[in-house]
Amino acid sequence: MSERIIGCKSEITHLMKKHQLTARKQYGQNFLVEPSVINKIVDQLSEEDTVIEIGPGLGSLTLPMARKCRRVIAIEIDEQLCGILREELKDPDNLEIRNEDILQTDLDAILNEIEGRVTVVSNLPYYITSEILLKLLTESGKISRIIAMMQKEVAERFFKKQADKDYGPLQVIAPYYCEISLLSRVNKRNFLPQPRVDSAVLLFTRRPYHHPVEDEQRLLDIIRACYSQRRKIVLTNLTNSGYHINKQQLNDINIKETARCEQLSLDDYIRLYEVLSDD
Ligand code: SAM
Repeated sequence: MSERIIGCKSEITHLMKKHQLTARKQYGQNFLVEPSVINKIVDQLSEEDTVIEIGPGLGSLTLPMARKCRRVIAIEIDEQLCGILREELKDPDNLEIRNEDILQTDLDAILNEIEGRVTVVSNLPYYITSEILLKLLTESGKISRIIAMMQKEVAERFFKKQADKDYGPLQVIAPYYCEISLLSRVNKRNFLPQPRVDSAVLLFTRRPYHHPVEDEQRLLDIIRACYSQRRKIVLTNLTNSGYHINKQQLNDINIKETARCEQLSLDDYIRLYEVLSDD
């Protein structure tokens, strides 16, 4: 008998009818219905991987990942979806479905009891894409890789040579933690319901940065402070956030006293961190 495929139009339509499910906009529910996209993602995984999936939805990715990987821990905020998943996937031994909000989840507690390589996979709910990625990158060093689908425009921001108005602390800090590469572009027709924009899948591979800092949280706080009021110069934003720095100190590290947040690179922020730590 051939293996069941959930991630296709006919099966997702059938499941939604059977369980009288309406996709919830407030949870960013757009289900993946294109097997070739699913295969591209699952091809990145092996039986060595323990996968944490964020937002399994109706299981388009969950089922093929559970077939291939050593273990899948799926975290889904929607209680109804968790019920459907348990009924439809029949809880394979290596699959754990948790009805939780990923932003409230104690990831360290989960990670501490996992042995071997951990990969996070997610077709991210678009309304909290940045919060989730920041949490995964900055709070959870044990995650080796993140395979994340997001709106195309958000994905493109990671590759901009020059920061612009759409750039934020996430785009600045991400290269500190990992290499980022494009796995696939995904047309909006490959989701049900169809969103307004296309998507892309990115692969984040963790590696040490060539210029490590001792207190990564402080580095992130400094970047956030500089971005706190985008119209204001970095000097003002830092002072308003309680950091003590003057024009001369900025000039000494080759940052103009009139610089704005988007004009600074990650290495500029690391130099700022060092000056501010010498206080
Ligand atoms: N993975 C499925 C797929 O590819 O078809 C569904 C992806 S859908 C874009 C996003 C999923 O994330 C939904 O199932 C939604 O309910 C879930 N979700 C939204 N907010 C969440 C949160 N804070 N914590 C966990 N899951 C969340």
